Amino acid sequence: MAETVTHPKTEWTTIHKNGPWKLKRLHITTNEGSTHLPSATGRYKDTANEIRRLIGEARDQGEGFRAFGSRWSMSQVAHHPDSMHYNRYMNLHIPVSGTDIHQNSPYEEENLFFFQCGTTIKRISQVLEAHGKSLKTSGASNGQTLAGCMSTGVHGSAIDVGSVQDYVVGINLITGPNPDDNVYLERHSKPALSDSFAQKINARVIRNDELFNAALVSMGGFGFIHGIAIEAEDRFLLQRYVKKIDKEIALELAETMDFRNSPFKIDEETGPDGKGLKPYHYKIFFNPYNDEKKYVVELMYKKPYTVPYEDPFNTIENSIYTDLIYLLIKISEKWPRTIPFFIKRLEKNILPEVNEKSLGTLYETFWDAQYKGPAFAFSVGIDHKDSTKALEVLSKMTSEEGPIPGIFAMRFIKRSEATLSFARFPVTCMLEIDGVQWKKSKKLMSQKEYGRRMIEVLQQNNIPFTLHWGKNSDWSFPGLVDHMFGEDAKKWKAYRNSLLSPEMATVFSNDFLIDTGLDEALPPDPGLIVSLG
Ligand SMILES: Cc1cc2nc3c(=O)[nH]c(=O)nc-3n(C[C@H](O)[C@H](O)[C@H](O)COP(=O)(O)OP(=O)(O)OC[C@H]3O[C@@H](n4cnc5c(N)ncnc54)[C@H](O)[C@@H]3O)c2cc1C
Repeated sequence: MAETVTHPKTEWTTIHKNGPWKLKRLHITTNEGSTHLPSATGRYKDTANEIRRLIGEARDQGEGFRAFGSRWSMSQVAHHPDSMHYNRYMNLHIPVSGTDIHQNSPYEEENLFFFQCGTTIKRISQVLEAHGKSLKTSGASNGQTLAGCMSTGVHGSAIDVGSVQDYVVGINLITGPNPDDNVYLERHSKPALSDSFAQKINARVIRNDELFNAALVSMGGFGFIHGIAIEAEDRFLLQRYVKKIDKEIALELAETMDFRNSPFKIDEETGPDGKGLKPYHYKIFFNPYNDEKKYVVELMYKKPYTVPYEDPFNTIENSIYTDLIYLLIKISEKWPRTIPFFIKRLEKNILPEVNEKSLGTLYETFWDAQYKGPAFAFSVGIDHKDSTKALEVLSKMTSEEGPIPGIFAMRFIKRSEATLSFARFPVTCMLEIDGVQWKKSKKLMSQKEYGRRMIEVLQQNNIPFTLHWGKNSDWSFPGLVDHMFGEDAKKWKAYRNSLLSPEMATVFSNDFLIDTGLDEALPPDPGLIVSLG
């Protein structure tokens, strides 16, 4: 049987030490071994029973219960002071084929995969590689869990693909302690797995587009996500370039996404007419304290998978332009770690000269994160057409009211169907500020104050925006979620309150949902959770 070890605790924090916050107990559940229970489905069902038992225990004690993955979110989104559950040992892959596939599924059978919640992006990529498949996109690195990524809306910079939740096609939720609380959600317009698959995992099916879209980016608030069905695609290669280009051109590309008519082009990446091709991925790095004339940009072009190709690791492992925190840490390592001195250096420093090229799979390109120390990250989503304006007002605020020890990057993603995804604009620019943590002093504002000023400055300049749920901000800023999501926030709450009983809505709430007002109790509407297919 699945086993849970429970540790009494006093506190908990994230991988980048954004806490600590209080914690009473930590549960760690492991699946039964395959020798004792050979069927993967059997082990999966056995663990589901154990999770229901733990949820029941929390309810009986009048306490909260919160699952977490790799602790890579830097906000309080994964925290609860009562009981927290570590999922990383729950990493089964349940193969699906034949009668497991819904007869009206629009997906290729060979592209559908079902993983338990705690499976990391790295492990999933390895399973997919063995089938000649790949994820469509991931974040900048690979240590997060699938459920953690989906729950906060993790993105890379795949302009025409979107975020992790955008390739999720089925969600198995445990919404309470009773057998009937095991539900399998899908879109009714795009069913993926069959009723008989759901029966195999003891789940009751609800096919309903709006409910499904609400449950995708749910910040842990829709119950315990036990398993996720995803659509993969054929393995492909990414030809990656890191270059320095004129600032004006880099920003014009951000605003227009018109790679065809830009004066910037890469000779190998042009069409038959000699014009530039649109890349799979586009990212800009910049230092807000130094008005550089040129910006570092990263571009990737999708290529068919063919072997042999040159091993990309020499380049990827030694590149500082992989994830933004790592870049800043690498820059900061050159100087004594006093923040004011470091910021002074940033005023002089230009991002190092670069001309990199590598070719590899998605799995090889978005590799391990190399830094695990204290760090912060702010990330706002804006319409890409507002990207230059947002960059100007935020970097002005940062240099006038700051300084803070961070640098900026921009990535670009397609709009998501998830109700509360921050990828809300047709092409969303994620403008990120990552850096080393600092303490408030006479000269430096606090991290929370900086988060608040970002919100105020964007509001004052009439720039519609969203915030990355897994990153730092002033999450209790009044009216924040309504400002960002309007009616969609109400819709999300309505679906949550209809799927969960009032008792369970409290068990699966936390301070993050309370601070943002997303915990609001509304009368349930049984009509919202009707299966439409
Ligand atoms: C080095 C680094 C690089 C990063 N790069 C990116 C990036 O490129 N793009 C990007 O968008 N973000 C990035 N992030 C942010 C981060 O990856 C996300 O916020 C992500 O959610 C973390 O996944 P996790 O598995 O660690 O989940 P956690 O942070 O542990 O949890 C996230 C949320 O998921 C919920 N949750 C997790 N598992 C379950 C479950 N089984 N059931 C219900 N709820 C669950 C938690 O309660 C919480 O609300 C990065 C973070 C770091 C530290």
